[in-house]
Amino acid sequence: MSNRAVFLDRDGVLMVDTNYVGHVDRVVILAEAPVALRRLQDAGYRLFVVTNQSGVGRGYFTREAVEEIHTLLDQKFATAGVKIDRYYVCPHHPEDNCECRKPKPKSLLDAAAEYGLDLAQCFMIGDRASDIQCGQSAGTRTVLVLTGAGQTTLAKGEVKPNFVATDIITAADWILRQR
Ligand SMILES: [Mg+2]
Ligand SMILES: [Zn+2]
Repeated sequence: MSNRAVFLDRDGVLMVDTNYVGHVDRVVILAEAPVALRRLQDAGYRLFVVTNQSGVGRGYFTREAVEEIHTLLDQKFATAGVKIDRYYVCPHHPEDNCECRKPKPKSLLDAAAEYGLDLAQCFMIGDRASDIQCGQSAGTRTVLVLTGAGQTTLAKGEVKPNFVATDIITAADWILRQR
């Protein structure tokens, strides 16, 4: 079993971030995502999605709707031979001050404990500062992608990822060169 994994933000990295995607009809998977995930998986990386879905806590959509979206992602990714090991969802409102909302690293630490991961050999890919901070807090290396909110995040200059990638394919290929 692999002790290496790539943690993936969802919106803006795997899917178009259309601001609170709460229904399967609004899911648009980025064309590069299945290809990139397949390369990482073939190289022995487990794949975990870590996503803040405060739309649940805000009452915009239900936790069940989130699960339907992830079922759809599983179906689409399966056609590319990709299996997501697990989805870690924070459904809380930011004001709940929960432990599972990025940038807090709890989901990554939980995954490491459950799956026996070596976080120093893991990576976090995201488009927002909270993704990069989350990965850094957990002890992973981090990649900022310029899809989604990535350009804005880069311009703000608040975080220092290990690498800035135009998209998830470029991110995956950089990760595969780090071994
Ligand atoms: Mg995002
Ligand atoms: Zn939470």
